[in-house]
Amino acid sequence: MLVVIVLIVVCLLSICVYRYLDGILSAQVQLSSSEIGRPSNVKVVGTAVVVGGSISGIIAASTLSPLSKQVFLIEKRKIPEDSSVADQGNQVHIFLSCGIDIIAKIFPNFIDAIIKKGAVRFDALHDCKSIGIEGPFASCEKGEGGVYGYSISRACVEVVIRRLALETFKNIQVIDEAEVIRLEGTKDHVTGLTYKNLDQEEITIQSDLFVDASGLYGISARLLNKQYGINIEKKKVKSYIEYISCRYAPRPEYKVKNPIIFYRGHPPHKPYGGISQLLEDGNLIIMLGMFKTPMSTNRESFEDFFKEKQMHLISEIIENSDPIGSVFSFKKEGSQYNYFENLNMKGMIALGDAVCSFNPVYGQGMTCAAEGCLLLDQLLRNRKPFSCQEYQKRLCKIVTLPWLLATNADLCFPGTQGGSSFQRMMIPRTIKANQEVAVKLARSKETHIDVAIVMNMTEGTGWRILTPLWLRKLFGYPIVPVMKPGYPVW
Ligand SMILES: Cc1cc2nc3c(=O)[nH]c(=O)nc-3n(C[C@H](O)[C@H](O)[C@H](O)COP(=O)(O)OP(=O)(O)OC[C@H]3O[C@@H](n4cnc5c(N)ncnc54)[C@H](O)[C@@H]3O)c2cc1C
Repeated sequence: MLVVIVLIVVCLLSICVYRYLDGILSAQVQLSSSEIGRPSNVKVVGTAVVVGGSISGIIAASTLSPLSKQVFLIEKRKIPEDSSVADQGNQVHIFLSCGIDIIAKIFPNFIDAIIKKGAVRFDALHDCKSIGIEGPFASCEKGEGGVYGYSISRACVEVVIRRLALETFKNIQVIDEAEVIRLEGTKDHVTGLTYKNLDQEEITIQSDLFVDASGLYGISARLLNKQYGINIEKKKVKSYIEYISCRYAPRPEYKVKNPIIFYRGHPPHKPYGGISQLLEDGNLIIMLGMFKTPMSTNRESFEDFFKEKQMHLISEIIENSDPIGSVFSFKKEGSQYNYFENLNMKGMIALGDAVCSFNPVYGQGMTCAAEGCLLLDQLLRNRKPFSCQEYQKRLCKIVTLPWLLATNADLCFPGTQGGSSFQRMMIPRTIKANQEVAVKLARSKETHIDVAIVMNMTEGTGWRILTPLWLRKLFGYPIVPVMKPGYPVW
C-alpha cells in the first residue's frame, strides 16, 4: 500500500515538474501559425501609445498597427535618419535567426531591404567560426541546424525596420524629442500619458493601451513609483561587462573569410572574448568583451590584446585592415529582470529591455523584444479578453530560458553578484557542465547544433537541453576539472 502511495506521489510530482518545465521550454508563440503583421478589419485597440522609439518600440507599434485605430510612438531623443536611436546601437549586435523570422513576417520586404543595403545571408554553423577553450567548434555542413544570420549592423536593422514600419503602417504617428513624464489614469488603470516636448509644453494623449518599450531604465517603473508608490521588484545579476570596439575596413587584397568570428570566454578563469562581425558595407566591427576588468580605449592596447590572448583570426583581420574612427566602449552592469507580472494594472504592458535586459554577449535582447511583440499580437488577435498581468506572466515564461542561460553562465565568473540562491548553489555544477559542453562543442557536431539552436531561441527547442544526456552532463559527473593542464588554448 505504502509503495503504491509513494508511486502515485512520485508520478504526480513528475507531472507537476514536467508541466512547469514544459510551460517554460515551450512558452514561445508559434510563428508559423501567427498572423502578426497581417491586416485586420477588427480594431481591438482604439488608441495605442508606445514609449521608446528603438527596436522594441518600432516592432511593438508595427504589431499594434493592424489591430488599432491609431498608434503613437513616443521617443525622447531625436530619431536619426541613418543610425540607431539607442546608446548601444553602434556596438556589435547579432540578430538571431528566430528574431529575423519574426521581423520578416511583420515586414515581408525586410530581407530584400537589408540585402539591398549590402547584407549577406550566412549559415551560422557553417560560415561562421567559433572558438572555445577546447579549440574551434566542430564543423557542420551547410544547412545543418538551420541557424542563419545576415552580415548587418544594428543601426541598419533599426533604420530599415523604421522605414518599413512607417511605409507599411500608416496609422503610426512618431513623436520624437518628446519625453514621457507622467502616466494618466489611476493607480490601477493607465489611461494615457503626458510628454514634454522641446518647447517644454506638456501634451497628454489618452490611450486604450500603453506599451512601455523604453528600455533598461524603463519609464513606467519609475513613474509608477513616483506617482503611486508602486514598486516594480527587480532581480539583477551583475557581471559588469564592457564592450570595447572599433570598425575596420579590410584592404582590397584581403578577403574576409567568415562573417562572424567568435572567441568565446569561459568561466571561471577566462572572463573575456572577442568578436569580429562583417557589416552590410563590407567593413568589420571588432569587439573585445570583458567581464569586470576595466580596459583602455587606446588603439594599441586594444589591438595588442587580441595578439596577447592569441585570438589569431581577429589579429589577422586587424593586420589586413585599416581602422575607421576611434575605439569606443560601452559598459553594462549585467542582466536585469523587472517583475511586471506582479503588477495588476489595466491599460498597460511592458516589453523588451524594459522587462528583461540581458548581458549582451548572448545576443538575445532584440529577439526577446520581437518575441514579446509576437505574444502581444497573439493575445490581441484571439479576441478573448486578457489582462495585462496575463500578458506579463506569459512573457515571463518566454524569457525565463534565455534569462537562465545568460545569468547561469555569468554567475560562473568569480565576482558576479546577484542571482537566486538556487542558481548560486548550482555554480560548481554549472562550471563543470560548461567545461563538458566546451569539450563537446569542439568535438561533437551534434552538441554544436543543439547549443546553437537553443541559444538562437529557435521555436520550441528548449527541451533539447533537458534530454537525459544533457542532464547527465549537469548532474551525473563528479565535480573535477575536465580540462587538461595547459588550457586555455587561445
Ligand atoms: C553593448 C550591447 C550589445 C548588444 N548586443 C546585442 C546583440 O548582439 N543581439 C541582441 O539581440 N541584442 C543585443 N543587445 C541588446 C539590445 O541592444 C537591446 O535588447 C535592445 O536594444 C532593446 O531594445 P529596447 O527598444 O527594448 O530598448 P532600447 O534600445 O534601450 O530603447 C529604449 C528607447 O526608449 C527611449 N526612452 C527612454 N525613456 C523614455 C521616455 N521617458 N520618453 C520617451 N522615450 C524614452 C530611449 O531614448 C530609447 O530610444 C546589446 C546591448 C548592448 C548594450
